[in-house]
Amino acid sequence: MSDLEQTRLVRTELPGPRSAALMLRKQAFVSPGVGTTMPVFATRAAGGIVEDVDGNRLIDLGSGIAVTTVGSSAPRVVAAVQAQVAEFTHTCFMITPYESYVAVAEALARLTPGDHEKRSALFNSGSEAVENAVKMARSYTGRSAVVVFDHAYHGRTNLTMAMTAKVAPYKHGFGPFAAEVYRAPMSYPLRDGLSGAEAARRAIGQIETQVGAGNLAALVIEPIQGEGGFVVPAEGFLPALADWCRTNGVVFVADEVQSGFGRTGTMFASETEDVVPDLVVSAKGIAGGLPLSAVTGRAEIMEAVHPGGLGGTYGGNPLACAAALAVIETIESDGLLERARQIETLVRERFARVDDPRIAEVRGRGAMLAVELVQPGTGEPDAALAKSIAAHAHSQGVITLTCGTWGNVIRFLPPLSISDELLTEALDIVVAGLEVTR
Ligand SMILES: *Cc1c(COP(=O)(O)O)cnc(C)c1O
Repeated sequence: MSDLEQTRLVRTELPGPRSAALMLRKQAFVSPGVGTTMPVFATRAAGGIVEDVDGNRLIDLGSGIAVTTVGSSAPRVVAAVQAQVAEFTHTCFMITPYESYVAVAEALARLTPGDHEKRSALFNSGSEAVENAVKMARSYTGRSAVVVFDHAYHGRTNLTMAMTAKVAPYKHGFGPFAAEVYRAPMSYPLRDGLSGAEAARRAIGQIETQVGAGNLAALVIEPIQGEGGFVVPAEGFLPALADWCRTNGVVFVADEVQSGFGRTGTMFASETEDVVPDLVVSAKGIAGGLPLSAVTGRAEIMEAVHPGGLGGTYGGNPLACAAALAVIETIESDGLLERARQIETLVRERFARVDDPRIAEVRGRGAMLAVELVQPGTGEPDAALAKSIAAHAHSQGVITLTCGTWGNVIRFLPPLSISDELLTEALDIVVAGLEVTR
């Protein structure tokens, strides 16, 4: 790790003068469509700390949205990327290939659920990989319809906007959207009270009557939803959908962009219920911050696409592949799956000591955890509370993200390299935010 001191330090008001000046430059030159959670500009990040241009040290509960799972500038990643950047930066895998891309595909075959024959294709972003998974499923099945779920988030490109549920800010004004995308009800135990089997029956019933299994190429689902509120489906929901897909020749796609790569205490969240997806989509945590994504799946599906049908100029860039191999080595050598489970225990124990009826639920798995905030009595989502708790945390130097269809969920996505001390300190500040807003 770099020599970045692992302590919180708020030495200016936030934002400090240098960040404030940079925000003015941003306003003058950067599209306001690209928002920022906190108006502070980063200079360094490592372990559990992000340092800003004014010398403040913030505790990181966001990992740049679940990306720096192994930590920002993790030592093995730094070494691997530095070595690679000096050798070659790009040849384009579709022109003259290189070994690291193949090695990443090999590792993905080993790490993703199921011991069937697998193939992978590499891309740059989560959205791009989700789009490609749909292309593969359509090519394989000769069908066109795609089913996604309430609260789903699959990205911001045209097809994935159609697949994403929430209109504001992701879709508003950006239509028309891609056709043949259908939405089914998600299992959301806090709000629907259904068992996994009941919720699956409800979803399947709707798919059969409104789409028709014979028209359906793929069912795409996040095993634990990300932007939609860290919704964990009731036990049995995912296996029932996977079974139904198998019976009906529908490609079951797990969008593990946020939940994958060790985040939930297993390499992939699908593993918890022994679900074996036909295609798994990885991104975010896969390469420690370098842009990389992947679709990994059954050889017969991946091989249905005609040669040249998949690709992209930068997909599987050598720097990103070097980083991914270093990330995998870091997760495996440093016991980071176990670390994710320890983080879950620590966070759950902290909230078990908070008796506040505005917390409807603490949910999630591993280092992908959230609290859903409501108005006591009615259970109505309380977005204002989530916002003010996040604002309190930000003012105290804790990077905290919100999420959820109604914006009433605070999510915790710390890097697995965070110390117990920093994590505890950050959680105490979040909990204090509840008191401030009482
Ligand atoms: C972030 C995310 C995406 C989109 O990934 P990008 O790299 O931002 O395109 C897709 N699916 C899920 C579940 C995500 O969390």
